[in-house]
Order: sequence, then C-alpha cells, then structure tokens
Amino acid sequence: MATNTTNRLYPLDRIRNIGIIAHIDAGKTTTTERILFYTGKSYKLGDIDEGTTVTDWMEQEKERGITIVSAAVTAFWTPKAGLMKDIETRINIIDTPGHVDFTAEVERSLRVLDGGVTVLDAEEGVQSQSETVWRQADKYNVPRICFVNKMDKMGADYFATLKSIRERLGAPAVPYNIPIGSENDFRGVVDLITKKAFVWEADPKGLGKEFKEEEIPENLKDEVEKWRAELVEKIAETDDSLTEKFLAGEEITEAELKSALRAAVIKYKIVPVLAGSSLRNKGVQPLLDAVVEYLPSPQDIETIEGTNPKTAEKEVRKLVMEEPFAGLAFKIQIDPHVGKLTYVRVYSGTLKSGTSVLNTTKHDRERIGRILLMHANTREEITEAYAGEIVAIVGLKGTGTGDTLCDEAHPIILESISFPEPVISLAIEPQTKADQEKLGYALGRLSEEDPTFRIKGDPETGQTIISGMGELHLEILVDRLKREFSVGANVGSPQVAYRETIKETATGEGKYIRQSGGRGQYGHCFLRVEPKPRGEGYEYKSEVKGGAIPQEYIPSIEKGVREKMEMGVLAGYPLVDMKVIVYDGTYHDVDSSDIAFKIAGSMALEEAAKHAKLVLLEPIMKVEVTVPEEFMGDVIGDLSSKRAQIHGSDHHGNSVIINALVPLAEMSGYVTTLRSMTQGRGSAYMEPSHYDEVPTNISDKIVAKNKGEKKES
Ligand code: GDP
Repeated sequence: MATNTTNRLYPLDRIRNIGIIAHIDAGKTTTTERILFYTGKSYKLGDIDEGTTVTDWMEQEKERGITIVSAAVTAFWTPKAGLMKDIETRINIIDTPGHVDFTAEVERSLRVLDGGVTVLDAEEGVQSQSETVWRQADKYNVPRICFVNKMDKMGADYFATLKSIRERLGAPAVPYNIPIGSENDFRGVVDLITKKAFVWEADPKGLGKEFKEEEIPENLKDEVEKWRAELVEKIAETDDSLTEKFLAGEEITEAELKSALRAAVIKYKIVPVLAGSSLRNKGVQPLLDAVVEYLPSPQDIETIEGTNPKTAEKEVRKLVMEEPFAGLAFKIQIDPHVGKLTYVRVYSGTLKSGTSVLNTTKHDRERIGRILLMHANTREEITEAYAGEIVAIVGLKGTGTGDTLCDEAHPIILESISFPEPVISLAIEPQTKADQEKLGYALGRLSEEDPTFRIKGDPETGQTIISGMGELHLEILVDRLKREFSVGANVGSPQVAYRETIKETATGEGKYIRQSGGRGQYGHCFLRVEPKPRGEGYEYKSEVKGGAIPQEYIPSIEKGVREKMEMGVLAGYPLVDMKVIVYDGTYHDVDSSDIAFKIAGSMALEEAAKHAKLVLLEPIMKVEVTVPEEFMGDVIGDLSSKRAQIHGSDHHGNSVIINALVPLAEMSGYVTTLRSMTQGRGSAYMEPSHYDEVPTNISDKIVAKNKGEKKES
C-alpha cells in the first residue's frame, strides 16, 4: 500500500463520480477493466514491446479482478481535445452490482454517483434488467451516457439498439458517434461533432493499441451528415441562443455544441450514445472523453437535501469544501488485509483522519482512523478527503450502509435510502459447536454489508431464519458463508415470506385478570382493527376517553399488539397493513401493570383479527423472460400454469421478451425449468413487485399445513 499522502485537492469541476450500469453480461466488467487499463498511470504506449504489454496486462488484470469488486475505484484521465483538453480529471468509478437480486444495492450506489454510463450489448439491445436499472437511475435523476458495446459481435446492430433505447427506455437518446463497420468489420467510430473518424487497428491480441485518425469512409459520409444534423438540431433545441442560430441557418461552433450538450446531458435532456467494443479495445477512449466532457461534476449537482435531526427541518447543503463535513456511508466491505472498510461519499466539507464525527443515523460518535483512496491496483493512505470525493475509511465500528456521518456541530441526516422488504427466507443451522459462533459472526457481517438481507431467530424452533430478495440472493449469501467465512451450515429449503392481513373492520376484547394471593394482575382493553391499503403498514392510535385506561398503559397495550402481529394469527405470518385503535377498557388501582396490559393487548388483537376476515398475502414477482421466438408458446403455457398474469411480449431480433407477474411461490427452481424448456437459451429476470392476496384454495392448504406443523412440534 502506498503510504505517501499525495492526495491533491482536485477542483470540483475536475471530479466525476460515475457508475457503470449494465445488464449482466453486457460487458460492465470488461469495460471497467479497459477504463482502468487506459487510465493506468504506469501504462505508457510504445514504451513496452508487445510481448511484455500482454503479460503485464494479464498480471494486472488478475490484480484488477480483485480491485474491481471494490466499491469504488479512483482513476485519472486527460482528454487530448475538446472542452477538457489537457485537463487531468479524477474519475471515481462506483461499482453498481449487476446481479438481478441486488436491486437495493444498485439503488444505494446510484444514490452516491453523479452520472452513469449504461453499457448495452449491441446484439441484445435493451434487456430486462437494463430497463429496471434505468428506471432506478431515473428516480435519482442520474444523467447518463449509453455505450453500445460488443459492436464486434455477430448480430451487432447499433441503430437497432438505439431504437430500443428510445422505445423501451423512452430515453432522449441521440448518437454522439457512429460505428465504422459492424461485427467482424467493426473498426472504429466517427465523432459526429468534430466529424473525425477514429480507427483501432486490428490486433490479434487486441491489446494496447492506440487509435489513429482517418478519413471518413466514402460510404459513411451521408450517414455522418444525417446523424450529425440530428445531433446538432437536438442540441440546438435545448439552448435558446443556439436555437436562434440554428433557425437562422448560422454555423454553430464545436465549442458551442459541446458546452450546450454538456448542459443538456446534465439536465437529462439528451443521452449521448457511443459505439464500441471493450473486448477488442475499440471506442473506450472516446467514452472516457465523453465521461469527462458531458457527465456532471459535483459542482453541477450543487446541493444535497437533508434533515436537521434537532429541528426536523429540511436543510440544504452546498457540495463544497467550505461547508461543514457531511457524508454518506454507502457500502461496507470486509477486506482481508485491513478488516472493515466503510465507503463514504463526502458531500460537503473535509473529512480528516484522527477526528471524531457524528453518525446522525445511529446517534453515535465515530472516530476516523485511516482514510484510503482506492486506486485500480494500489491504495493510497490520505489524511483528508474533500467535498465531492469517494473514500474508504478503515475500522469504523457502528456505521452501517446508508448512515450519515457529519460534523458534530452541524448535524444533518441525508435522506436515507429505503429498502424493499425481503420476500423469501430459509432456516440455517450450524453443523458443529464451533460453527455456531462463526455463523453468528458471519451473518452479522453479511447483513451489515447488505441491508436487504435479514436475520431472525425463530423463538419456537430455536433456528436462525435468514431472509432476502429472492432464491438466488440467499443462495449467494449461503455460498459466501461457506467460502469466505468457512462456516459449516445446513440450510433448509427456501420458504416464501407470506404475510397476513385483514379485510374488514372488527373489534376484540382482551382481559387478563389474575387473583392469586399477593398482588394480582389486571389488564383489560377493547381494540378495533381496520384494514389499510396494501403497503401502508401499521398504525396505532388511542381513542380512550375519560381515563378508562391510564395513559401510561396505552404503550403497554401496543407492545402486546405488535408482538401478536409479528407472530400472526391465521398461519403464523406477520400481520401487516392495518390500523389498530384502542378505544376502551378498565383498570385496577393496585393490580394493573405494564405486563398485564401487554397481555390484554395481545389477546384483544387476536380476537379482533379473527373477526376481521383474515387473509394471506404472498409476494408477487415481476418476471421477464427472454427466449428465442420458437419457445414462446411453451414458455407462456408454462407461466400460465404458474398463476402468471402475462402482460405482453416484445420482439427484439429473434428473441421475445415476455413480461409477467407471477407469485413467488410458483417460481422456485424456475431457472432450471426454463433452461430445460429452451435448450439452455432462455434467461429470466425477476424482482419483487408487490404483495397480493393468496387464492382461497391455496391459502387453505397453507393454513392447514402450518397448523399441522404446530401440533407436531
Ligand atoms: P458483465 O457481466 O456486464 O460484467 O460482463 P463481462 O464484462 O463479464 O462480459 C460478459 C461477456 O461478454 C464476457 O464473455 C466478455 O468477454 C464478453 N464481452 C465483453 N465485451 C465484449 C465486446 O466488446 N465484444 C464481445 N464480442 N464480447 C464482449
């Protein structure tokens, strides 16, 4: 590790915090690797003969294989032309997980980045997951560039992909450069603003070749004019003075076009589209130039909103050094060398090592020990991190993902990230006594890293229940337990996380009176339960009048209510989406107690719920299946037998994308089913959509089964 403290203060306009966002397999890893390769400081063109370049590169690639899993990597890039000519810019690349089940992680990383590069497969176009991630990026207003990767691949089609970006994503996408050739003949790109053609020489090893400028091929000249005219018109539309010039038929300069394009990208009025092939090392440098030229710097973002924890009032922070320190912890990683690393985006002020900061989310102080800047293959220890930067802090104790850290004298909570509730769970047991301790520790660590992963003890069986966002999510976590923490564990089969709710309003009475010698127990209350719309959660209120129940026991009743709701009434699943109102009761001067009212509350809730038409709810998944056309009928038929609501299908090339909503309970092992049904050519993507009522015939079976199990144990 480098221990020199060369961390120069980069002016804000020379920082880019970006994420590379992609559907799995679109080429996110390859593109990130190439970016790190081209931005690598030690790498000099022409200095090394080809043989060593390749081996060096392979060696580095191995190292990078490790660093790429780090949550953020810092790289430097100096464009040779354009708006940022000869200005070195610091690019922090924040990892956005491409895994289907990890939508919460994607959201978390989107929250801290300022701009994104969406990588698409030129043959597949917009795929299901790209669409989901795109919508998430919309939520956080992340300006974007699209990189149409794999232009060298059989079936690559730049303009069909452009069309799918426009149609499926509804994005204001405009080609910024267009490809020269396609598939095997893909050679380079033509920059539409400057009308320069760049080609990368065909190199069998595909490594380390600079590009050179060429004449625009004759057969492409008309295309270039056509797409340039569109780009110029689209840019001109976003800027009043350019609109005038455009309408008057005046020439708009390159610099004017570029500045206006930058403003338009930042406001998400234009999404520039670039072509390339990361694997073949073509088109990556223009992408880096575009990141620097068009994606926002922290300065462009200007402010972040938060809440003052003391006054609960909104507070706006400027993203500058002059403001007090505020930052957001967005990722926790366990590093084999230094232990726990907490990745923090510094929004304002300066974070100094050796100082104390406030964790506003946890109401606790944290001492800042070492601060690291993560480079592609080294780490640099720094003493200060400034507004706009992304760093890793070693050894923070109580800070979790999504927590705000700030200056103690100027507390703020940056809006927290909301995570979806887990929909599937499984029981896990240590194999040996020694594993028991390790298991607890490892689960704790994993849940710290991933807030959508929950751990719960089952009081009835003494088992540990882990829950998450999908079968695959849990599979990966269990695999990590074994590989990273060497915990021997037996796991049960995944169980759908059902819930219970009520459909009608009803009342119930709870009376807990004991008179056995000494001091008795007396708690007595009446509750009313009312259904609430799906997803609105729980609410508790008192309408007790005239002191029928002393104020101090109202919270005691709630404790009992919540406990009972957690345990469920119908089939042992938590009760959700209801309002509970305590409206009457009686008490005893001597015998009434907290515990007696708690028990009365629990009894009253059970009785009220039983009269309120209890039903089971199940998680419904949004499912997108991509299959070659000839399998469409079979796949739809199979989905229909799984209680799916098919919402339609889109054709893309020879593939069909089927959209459906399917109960999670029907989807266990679907990946295998799909594979065998489509000779391995189908792929599926799913994520939790909402909870819905379980049909009575199925619900009856689940209730009967759970009651049976209870009797047995
Ligand atoms: P990720 O899942 O998005 O990180 O994708 P990877 O970078 O791992 O790439 C997935 C697969 O696509 C790998 O087999 C890559 O070699 C391949 N790939 C990536 N970029 C290109 C490209 O530009 N052209 C072609 N033909 N294949 C590519």
